[in-house]
Amino acid sequence: MTSPPRDFSRLCIHTMTTKPWAFEEAVRRYAAAGVAGVTVWRSDFADLGPAAAGELVRSHGLSVVSLCRGGFFPADSAGGRARAVDDNLRCIDEAAALGAPHVVLVCGSAPGLALAESRRQIAEGIAAVLPHAAASGVKLAIEPLHPMYAADRSAVSTMSQARAICSQLKSPWLGIAVDVYHTWWDDRLEDEIRRSGSEGTLLAFHISDWRTPVADILEDRGVMGEGCIPIRQIRGWVQEAGFDGFNEVEIFSRRHWASEQARYLEGIKAAYLAHS
Ligand code: ZN
Repeated sequence: MTSPPRDFSRLCIHTMTTKPWAFEEAVRRYAAAGVAGVTVWRSDFADLGPAAAGELVRSHGLSVVSLCRGGFFPADSAGGRARAVDDNLRCIDEAAALGAPHVVLVCGSAPGLALAESRRQIAEGIAAVLPHAAASGVKLAIEPLHPMYAADRSAVSTMSQARAICSQLKSPWLGIAVDVYHTWWDDRLEDEIRRSGSEGTLLAFHISDWRTPVADILEDRGVMGEGCIPIRQIRGWVQEAGFDGFNEVEIFSRRHWASEQARYLEGIKAAYLAHS
């Protein structure tokens, strides 16, 4: 059995996890709490701009772990697909200015399009922006999403589908973000993680927990230990596959957002040591 994390040196928090805190406050509070990294969301730097946001993070001794998020490539018109490519080019520029090593891709899905066609358009969209990602020194991380989001958020539901796109496009600038919330149910997960590790495409690892029943498909994630995901076991698979990056806590939860955020952050730290 994989041992618990010894300290917070690999703990990263997505700013969305503590949504009630404005960006500057989140960075200051994370730094004071001993968190090592932060994953930034594009809305965080609407006022500040990406370069100043990156400076702010680093000036607090934190690492910028990634930028969330690009993607949403499929559309039922050529114009819609072109707009998605433009937005992803901008997102790559923002990641470069922020100093983020990769952009997480929520790949998208167009209701009414066959999932296979959405996946074809996703591969086409990624192919269109990969040269710019490479030139900018920014990697792209395909994040498979739980199949409950297949109609409108991601036609990529499994590691296997993400690996197929990576194999098709064969670029050192393209890889995969493994999120336990989206992938824990997959009976092929251990094998897929091992394969992804040997192919050099494991770029990120996101953690939270699955509550039962799920009260809201977007905003009812649990803190580690509040649900049924074998987080430590999956972290072990990811580590054995060669991943040595951050463990990124990414929790969207109206229930926790309504609570006192400083106490919530302390709870996340305790849960991180006890359950991840
Ligand atoms: Zn995620």
